[in-house]
Amino acid sequence: MKTDDHKANSTSTETVVKYHGLRYLITDIMIKIIIYYKKNGLRWVLSKARALFSGRLPVSWDIPLPSRYTERRCKVCGVGELIFLEKKPNIHGIAADIYICRNCLVITNVSAYQQHGEDSDSNERVQRDSSEDFYRYTVEEVKNIESLVEANKEIIRSVLPYLGHVQDRVFLEIGSGKGLLLVAASELGFKKVIGVDYNTTSFMETKKLIKVKNNIFMFNNIDDVPPEDKADCFVMWHTLEHIPKPNDFFKLIDKRLNQSCILLVQVPQYNHLYLCDTDYHFYNEPSISLLLKNNGWHIIKLEYDCKLQFMAVIAKRR
Ligand SMILES: [Zn+2]
Repeated sequence: MKTDDHKANSTSTETVVKYHGLRYLITDIMIKIIIYYKKNGLRWVLSKARALFSGRLPVSWDIPLPSRYTERRCKVCGVGELIFLEKKPNIHGIAADIYICRNCLVITNVSAYQQHGEDSDSNERVQRDSSEDFYRYTVEEVKNIESLVEANKEIIRSVLPYLGHVQDRVFLEIGSGKGLLLVAASELGFKKVIGVDYNTTSFMETKKLIKVKNNIFMFNNIDDVPPEDKADCFVMWHTLEHIPKPNDFFKLIDKRLNQSCILLVQVPQYNHLYLCDTDYHFYNEPSISLLLKNNGWHIIKLEYDCKLQFMAVIAKRR
């Protein structure tokens, strides 16, 4: 009997504990909802709740984030919060702070922003200085210049099916560097070929190495491109990742493009071999899709070069 009494008492105590436990749990959830509502607004809370109940929540909202992390807003989607992912050595062996956007999943090298700031003038200086070595020809490249141009023609051939007669088309490349894509486009028959790069001396080197037609025009800045030369084919070959504010850039370039313009982009995937001071973003499928969609582009084709870990996108204007 004694045992039974004890059992009876125990059951009743458990019920009370469970009842209070449930009450505290509900109160706790309500308090959390109110805190998150105050901090982030109703839409954010609803989207998190939806994600939680559909099992899609990428990161638990119970992870305490130091305030310095939550202050950062993603420069790619403009709405997501950047959260600290890890420290990663860059190509010079220096640890970089790597963040990821909770919304578009772009991987951001916050150390690059901390080092160079976000204004376009400082970015221009950094990109120009760093390109001096990168764009210098090696002895091997000089020897194989013709085959390098042929390889660049292959890149452009991927967009030719979407362009029609290239004889009537204007080709524009931002971040054209040595200008081998420009030479290739010119040889493939584009009417006019325009390159923009902070560093124009590399293209001078190319002109010394190979005969270049006179329909190629090189500019230091997008603003210097004649406004009547609207592009039908717009290429950014390993350039997008160097742009600190890609949405501002797309707004700027928009008036330089024809309505039927085709875009060709290649970017490196996230890999410490490609991590350097001048790379701000490592794009992946969700982030590049959202960036392009938000700027009026529709992806026709997305391909990977898994050997080199690059991702290429062909897009048209919507
Ligand atoms: Zn984002």
